[in-house]
Amino acid sequence: MLSRIDLRGRVPSPAELRAALPRAETDVDVVLDRVRPLVEAVHHRGVEAVLEFTEQFDGVRPATIRVPAEELAKAERKLAPNVREALLESIKRARLVHADQRRKDTTTQVVPGGTVTERWVPVQRVGLYAPGGLAVYPSSVVMNVVPAQTAGVESLVVCSPPQKDFGGLPHPTVLAACALLGVDEVWAVGGAQAVALLAYGGIDTDGGNLAPVDMVTGPGNIYLTAAKRLLRGLIGIDSEAGPTEIAILADETADPVHVAADLISQAEHDTLAASVLVTTSVELAGKVDAELRRQVQATKHNERVATALSGKQSGCVLVSDMDTGVKVVDAYAAEHLEIQTVDARAVAARVRNAGAIFIGAYSPVSLGDYCAGSNHVLPTGGCARHSSGLSVQTFLKGVHVVDYSADALREVADMVISLANAEDLPAHGQAVAARFDLGRFENP
Ligand code: NAD
Repeated sequence: MLSRIDLRGRVPSPAELRAALPRAETDVDVVLDRVRPLVEAVHHRGVEAVLEFTEQFDGVRPATIRVPAEELAKAERKLAPNVREALLESIKRARLVHADQRRKDTTTQVVPGGTVTERWVPVQRVGLYAPGGLAVYPSSVVMNVVPAQTAGVESLVVCSPPQKDFGGLPHPTVLAACALLGVDEVWAVGGAQAVALLAYGGIDTDGGNLAPVDMVTGPGNIYLTAAKRLLRGLIGIDSEAGPTEIAILADETADPVHVAADLISQAEHDTLAASVLVTTSVELAGKVDAELRRQVQATKHNERVATALSGKQSGCVLVSDMDTGVKVVDAYAAEHLEIQTVDARAVAARVRNAGAIFIGAYSPVSLGDYCAGSNHVLPTGGCARHSSGLSVQTFLKGVHVVDYSADALREVADMVISLANAEDLPAHGQAVAARFDLGRFENP
C-alpha cells in the first residue's frame, strides 16, 4: 500500500536523504501565483473582494463577516454535553502546559550602574485561524487561543470559513469553542482571503470596523499557507503549518495495528497529508501494509485516506539500523514523529528535528491533536528543522531595555568611539563624546 524506499545497507548524507524522502508534490510555491492576486484584491477592495472569493470557494455569502454575539452564545448553549466536557478538558490541559511556558523577564547587571533587561511583551492584536474546509477544527481554536491568552495578548480575533450548511456562519462547534474560551470576536472567513483581511482590515457589510492585526497564526491548507508566506513582514506569522504529516520510527517490537491506525489518522486530514513509516523491520513493513489494506476500507473517509497514503508524499523507508533511522527522521523533520521502538525514550532523545515527538505505544498523535496538553499547531514541510510549534513564546516579543548611568557610560566611552571609527561611523562616537565633552568632534 505504501510505496517503499529501500535504504538498507546505505548511510545516505542528509542532502541525499532530503532528495530521496517522500514529499508532497504540491509545493506552496506552486500556488503563490494563484494566491497573490487574491491577496491584492482584498487589499484594494476589502470585504467586497472577500465576499466574492467566499462565494467562489466556500459556496456561500455570509450576511456580515463578524459573527453576531448571539450566535456565539447560541452555539455554546446547543453544544452536545459530551463535546462540551471534552473541549473543557482539552482547554484545561492546554492551559496547564502553556502556563508553564511563560518566560520571565531577565535583567543582567553588566557593570555597576549598567543593566540590560529583556522584557517579554505580548503582541497587541492577533488573528487566529481555525480551518474549516474538508473538516472543521474546534480543537485548533483551543490550540491557538490558549497560548495567545496565556501570553497576555490584549485583542484577539478568530477566523474560520463560513459553512454553507450553517447559513454562512463558521461551524457551530467552532463558535462554541470560542465562547467557552471567552473569545467574543469571530469572523466568518477562510483561506487566503482570511489572512489578507486580517492583515489589511476592512469595513464589514454593516459598517463595522474589522481592525487589522499584528500577527496571524494557525494551521490551514496550502492556500492559507501561501497567503501567510506572501504577507509575512506586514504581519508576523507562526511557522508554516500546512497539510499534516506523521512519521513513525518503528522496529520489530511495534504493533502493526497501532502503526497502521496512526498512519491513517493523519491521512484523514487531507489528500495532501503525508504518512511515512521508517523502520528497521521488513516484517513490520509487510504487516503494516496488510493492516492498512484492512483498516482503510473500514474508515469513514477512505477515499481521502487512500489518496493520501498512495500519494508521492507518503511511503515506507527501510533502514538497516536505528542510527540510520534517526538520521532519516531528522532529515525528514516531521510535523509529528512517533517513536515505537524498544527504549523509545532514549531514541527520542537523539532526535533533533520534529514538530512534536510522541513516545511509545500509548502516546499516539491523536492524543496530541486533542487532549495531551501539548499544542497541535506544528511546522510542516520540513520547517521543523528551524521552527517550533505554536506556544506562548510565539505571541511574545523580547524588548531589550538598556539602562546605563553616566559613570557606566563614561567607563566604556573610548571603546564605543573606537568601534564607531573602525566602522567609519564617527557620528556614533560623537554621540557619546558629546555627553562628556571629550573633545573628539574632529574626524579621526
Ligand atoms: P482550510 O480552512 O485551511 O481551507 C478552506 C479554505 O480554503 C476555504 O475557506 C476556501 O476559501 C479556501 N480554498 C479552497 N479551495 C481554494 C482554491 N482553489 N483557491 C483558493 N482558496 C481555496 O481547511 P482545509 O482545506 O480543511 O485544510 C485544513 C488543513 O489544515 C489540512 O491540510 C490539515 O492537514 C491542516 N492542519 C494542519 C495542522 C498543523 O498544525 N500543521 C493542524 C490542523 C490541521
